[in-house]
Amino acid sequence: MDDKERDVSFKSFLGPDCLRSRVTFTRNGQHFCVYCGEKSDTREHCPSKVFLSEPYPNDLPTLPACFECNNSFSSDEIYTEMYIDALKFLSGNSNALSDKTKRYMENNTAFNDAQTDLDNFYVTGVMPKREKIFRILTKLSICHMVYDLSEGYSVDGCSIIPSRIEYTTSIELSKHEKDDFGDMIKISDKKLPTIGSRVFDRIFVLNPVFEKETEQDTLEGPFVFLDWYDVQDENYSYVSWSENDDTIHVKIVIHNFLYAEVVFPQSIIQ
Ligand SMILES: [Zn+2]
Repeated sequence: MDDKERDVSFKSFLGPDCLRSRVTFTRNGQHFCVYCGEKSDTREHCPSKVFLSEPYPNDLPTLPACFECNNSFSSDEIYTEMYIDALKFLSGNSNALSDKTKRYMENNTAFNDAQTDLDNFYVTGVMPKREKIFRILTKLSICHMVYDLSEGYSVDGCSIIPSRIEYTTSIELSKHEKDDFGDMIKISDKKLPTIGSRVFDRIFVLNPVFEKETEQDTLEGPFVFLDWYDVQDENYSYVSWSENDDTIHVKIVIHNFLYAEVVFPQSIIQ
């Protein structure tokens, strides 16, 4: 089936509004920063290796970013990683701080902010600078939706501001709630991702077969599910999808401990 036939097939299945032109990472051979829309000469890994362990996955997604944006997130990413690791340790969800956090803690000059807050955290239990964590969750989510859905690509100076950012930790969630959070996303009744976007690798169609004719009458049709992308087991998973109202949702789980959801009001490019 070529692309055109596939488009027609999906149109008949989910309606013509489900299709949009694909957004690419380049225009006229030039790459543009996914965060600010400026011309970019660098590429960055998403998620950042800060949240992963060695050996890193070979096929880590990379996206174009300008030098300024690429650099501007580093210290906040480390802050977020240290917060997760420290809270995990203090809550008894791990036996020790990670070697990575210990290394960061030794490097006072570069990461003073996180170090100071972490020291206070042990005494008062009060961390973090939530704006830093929000900023990183936003950054990660932009990467994921651009990479997966080919949407929300920031061009022409547009910025992408989430309408909602929420995170919680394993401490606050029951096992049942964690399982719910990690469920595959049923997208049969939502906007289908752009044809050819990377997220298609993780779409599954389940077509249940019922034995009795009466039950067939109530069949909702094929159930289309979107699975999570496990970037690295135990460390990082995410899933992103579009709702019918054009909001884009990204769920992220870091170290099986931080559970986040970020919602963007609508895609910039229609
Ligand atoms: Zn930029």
